[in-house]
Amino acid sequence: MLAEIRGLNEECGIFGIWGHTNAAQLTYYGLHALQHRGQEGAGIVSTDGEALRALKGEGMVSEVFTPEKLEKITGMAAIGHVRYATAGGSGIENVQPLLFNSTTGSLAISHNGNLVNATQLKGHLERQGSIFQTTSDTEVLAHLIKRSGYESFEEKAKNALSLLKGAFACLVLTEEAMFVALDPNGLRPLSVGKMGDAWVVASETCAFDIVGAEFVHSVEPGEFLVINNDGMRKERFAYPAERSICTMEYVYFSRPDSDIDGINIHSARKRLGKQLAKEVHIEADVVTGVPDSSISAAIGFSEQSGIPYELGLIKNRYVGRTFIQPSQEMRERGVKMKLSPVRQVVKGKRVVMVDDSIVRGTTSRRIVALLKEAGATEVHVVISSPPIKNPCFYGIDISTSGELIASNNTVEEMREIIGADSLTFLSVDGMVQNIGRTDPGSKCGHCLACFTGEYPTNIYPDTVLPHEKEKVK
Ligand code: SF4
Repeated sequence: MLAEIRGLNEECGIFGIWGHTNAAQLTYYGLHALQHRGQEGAGIVSTDGEALRALKGEGMVSEVFTPEKLEKITGMAAIGHVRYATAGGSGIENVQPLLFNSTTGSLAISHNGNLVNATQLKGHLERQGSIFQTTSDTEVLAHLIKRSGYESFEEKAKNALSLLKGAFACLVLTEEAMFVALDPNGLRPLSVGKMGDAWVVASETCAFDIVGAEFVHSVEPGEFLVINNDGMRKERFAYPAERSICTMEYVYFSRPDSDIDGINIHSARKRLGKQLAKEVHIEADVVTGVPDSSISAAIGFSEQSGIPYELGLIKNRYVGRTFIQPSQEMRERGVKMKLSPVRQVVKGKRVVMVDDSIVRGTTSRRIVALLKEAGATEVHVVISSPPIKNPCFYGIDISTSGELIASNNTVEEMREIIGADSLTFLSVDGMVQNIGRTDPGSKCGHCLACFTGEYPTNIYPDTVLPHEKEKVK
């Protein structure tokens, strides 16, 4: 995937396990499988039923954890987190799980998603005397739990969760139990699995495969699961709202070997590629996909159009991540270091280049140039999603429309900017129908806000930057 050079980044991945003697080690493996969801930091908090112990650091999973360190956080339960910072910024204090020790009981939280009312809640809590240790919106949940007037931890947690707005897939760990919650719109994926007697929870089902767990069910919007030594119990903290899972999970973020609500990501992307080939007719010699996330759609496009699929671009996997290089110049160089054209495949050919999305346009422009430098006579860019015109407030790093090329340009202007011979985007209907969800409603259970501007939740005033206000319907 090219998220790091395109400016489209998932915020986080979460993993939890209850009831296994190697909980921390298994969480480490689970986080490895979720590494694509965040590379800035990783952490594990485990419990042996007596206390909670944390191990975390900045960087990749393999950099943060060593076998020696993992041995120090033994226990029968653990939660973990991989982070890409969209809310709160980077820094070790923001690496999750966040751990809070108190004389009335400790708790740790792993959270994937962004709260749209974090600022309001934080202001309210600060006026009541709360002091925040981090700039992460996740800390709000811990304060709300601790300040809740309810008796039991369960009721406190449910009450606190009911006050949150936006996207949240959460794991909360105490010495007695692991709690699992998903926001009422179900904006982020979250699945439950079983591994012998142990319960496993993960952002993506690919994490189950790596630890040998079986998928049991998806967490439902508004659901609150209590997992402890007595087993798993389903409760609710909110009624479900209209299902609005992030469409970009299917298009781009999730791993091809993951399933979301029974739909395999690779298969869904292939169908998107096929639909694209139905929506546009291009005379070309080869189809190629931008690795890794667009390969499935490129195969689908090839199958439908009859134009042979070829490996026209390869990814250099050993280059450091370039998203930490903030300047445009460095980002452009990053593209060149990360991708190479296969000259023999593209030379003298009319190439269809399939990509999953365009954010700034920088990456597309560089890839088109790479293919042309390598001898492609024409480069037709086809995108397996509609133009991204609106910011995301739910945990994806597209927070201002100013940086979105599709927000400020027509398709023809974009084509010219990226230097392609043609540019085609998939239609919204074509995308929704071919992903294959069957939820009631015209959006079939999808969030489409970055494409259509129709946000599934209220967008609280200070979530929106002043110059974005007119864009939010
Ligand atoms: S706005 Fe777009 S990126 Fe954000 S949650 Fe919705 S579909 Fe996903």
